[in-house]
Amino acid sequence: MPDMTKKNRYENWLQQISGENPLIIAGPCSAETDKQVLETALGVKVAGAHILRAGIWKPRTRPGNFEGVGAIGLKWVQQAKEATGLLTATEVANASHIELALQHDIDVFWIGARTTVNPFAVQELADALRGTDKIVLVKNPVNPDLALWMGALERFDKAGISKLGAVHRGFSSYKKMPYRNEPLWQIPIDLKTQFPHLPLLNDASHISGISENVFDIARTAIQLKFDGLMIETHIDPKSAWSDARQQVTPDNLQAFLENLVVPKDKIFDRKLLKTLSILRKEIDDLDAELIQIFKLRQEKTKQIAEMKYLENIAIYQKERWLDILQKAIRNSQENEVNQKFIEQVFRLLHQESLKIQHQVFKDKNDNKPLI
Ligand code: PEP
Ligand code: MN
Repeated sequence: MPDMTKKNRYENWLQQISGENPLIIAGPCSAETDKQVLETALGVKVAGAHILRAGIWKPRTRPGNFEGVGAIGLKWVQQAKEATGLLTATEVANASHIELALQHDIDVFWIGARTTVNPFAVQELADALRGTDKIVLVKNPVNPDLALWMGALERFDKAGISKLGAVHRGFSSYKKMPYRNEPLWQIPIDLKTQFPHLPLLNDASHISGISENVFDIARTAIQLKFDGLMIETHIDPKSAWSDARQQVTPDNLQAFLENLVVPKDKIFDRKLLKTLSILRKEIDDLDAELIQIFKLRQEKTKQIAEMKYLENIAIYQKERWLDILQKAIRNSQENEVNQKFIEQVFRLLHQESLKIQHQVFKDKNDNKPLI
C-alpha cells in the first residue's frame, strides 16, 4: 500500500499557489456562455481567487435538467485563463473528459461526489491521468463513507499523482435539514488524521445549497484549519443555468475574503498560552466531575432497578421520564444553558438508565434458581 501519511508524499502544490493563505477556487457551477465565463473569471480574480472553476459536464440527479455545455465550454475556460492568468479547474467523470480537458490546458481536475463512489470510474480516471503533472482534487463520496473517499485518493496516489487534495462537499441525506448536504465535519477531520499532509478544501456551496449560508460554512471550515475553499460564484446567480440558489457574486466573495480571519496554527504568546492552559485544566476538572456524577447516577439507577424488580414494577415509567425532562428544560432555561443540548443529554441519560435497569432485571432472572 502507498504510504499516504508521509509528509513528503505530496508536492507542496497548495503553498506554491496560495502561500500561507487559504487556497481559493471560485467560478460558476457551470460554464454557460463565453461572456459569462470571462466576466466571472475577471470578477473572482479581483476578489482574490487563485483558481477558476467551471463545470463543463454536469452530473444531474434527474435527466432533463441542463447537463453542461460540453467541450465548447473548455475553449471559454482556456480563453479566461489567458485573459486573467488564473489556473483552471473542471470536473471530469470519464477518460474522454480528461483527454478533452488536457487538450485545453486545464490545470486542476476534480472528481465529483457521484464519481468518487465508483471504484471502476475512479480507476479509469487515475489511469487516464497517470504520467501527467496535474492537480487532482477528490470530492467526498455522496454517502458518508471515509474508506471510500480514502480509497479513491489512494488510487490517484498509486497512479503517481503527487499534486493531490481532497474536497469536503457534505453528504446527502433523506432527512429534513437546513443543508443541501449534511456537513458531518467529523469525516473530513478523520480524513485529515489519516492523511495529515494531504491538502483539504471545503466546498461550502454544495453543503449549503443556499447563498445565504455559504460564507458561514466556509468560515467554519477555515476555523477548523481547512487549507482552502471552493465557492460557486456567478456574475448573475439568479439567472444561472444550474445551482442558481447557492451561487454568490464576485463582489460577495470579495467582501467575504477581505474580512476572513485565518486562525493561527500555534499560539506563540506566552501569557496567552498560560491562560489557555489554565482554562483547559479547569475544563478537564469539570469533565472529571461529570464522570463522577454519572457514576453516582448509575448507582442510584441500579438501586431503583432492584426495587422495581422486587415489586414487579415496569422499568419504563412515562410520567417519571416526562417529569425529569421538564425539570431539566426549566433548569436549562433558568441557567441559560442551550435547551436543545440539555434535552439531548437527558435523552441519552434516560436511554442509559433504561439499559442499566434492563441489565439488573436480566442478571436477577439469570440467577434465579430453576425450581
Ligand atoms: C459541482 O462542483 O458543481 C458538483 C457537481 O459538485 P458535487 O460533485 O460535489 O455534487
Ligand atoms: Mn454546482
